[in-house]
Amino acid sequence: MAHRLTIGLTGGIGSGKSAASACFERLGICVVDADVVAREVVEPNTQALADIAQHFGPAIIQPDGTLDRAQLRQLIFADPSQKAWLEALLHPIINQRLKEQLTNAQSAYVVFVSPLLLETTQHQLTDRILVIDCPPESQVARAALRDNIAPAQIEAIMATQLSRTERLARAQDVLHNHGSLDDLEVQVGKLHQRYLALSSRLD
Ligand code: ADP
Repeated sequence: MAHRLTIGLTGGIGSGKSAASACFERLGICVVDADVVAREVVEPNTQALADIAQHFGPAIIQPDGTLDRAQLRQLIFADPSQKAWLEALLHPIINQRLKEQLTNAQSAYVVFVSPLLLETTQHQLTDRILVIDCPPESQVARAALRDNIAPAQIEAIMATQLSRTERLARAQDVLHNHGSLDDLEVQVGKLHQRYLALSSRLD
């Protein structure tokens, strides 16, 4: 196979990216998740974690050996130059790992899920953009319930993400997640048939 069809799945916080990813996985499709990879590259005993500790001081590592994400978030929030330093360290490592996982995926096509697919260069790794969309009120309600945080905090995160209109304008395919999870599963099943047909043309 010359090239494996790569579907880029994105959507705002709480829109249902993980729920849709699970549907694709149940159909036997490999899912590469940018959030998962971003956590993996700073797991205990990684070079990146050692570099972070050297830069920010050993207190950034918790007694159990894991990164103190809350502290790191505060440090980079307070100082854009520190944020830039961290991104310069991590982005190349994350992108390399993402490329490896996309290359190694063994299903007919692969789904690459990322909240920042369209905001970063990550969309360049994909052939088609699939946006999962739902009304903002549902996004806030679902994410607040899932993460047990205040709706205002979800809204603050949403304000940093692409608007619903901007995101939809860049979609080739859309999942409408305003109904039940069963309804979402049905929509993913239909897209799956379309993607199988598209991927067989690439063979
Ligand atoms: P994202 O990964 O985009 O942040 P999730 O897939 O985690 O969003 O969905 C947010 C929360 O809403 C999760 O707890 C999920 O189970 C729930 N959820 C997602 N879609 C639906 C739906 N159609 N009906 C009910 N709950 C949903």
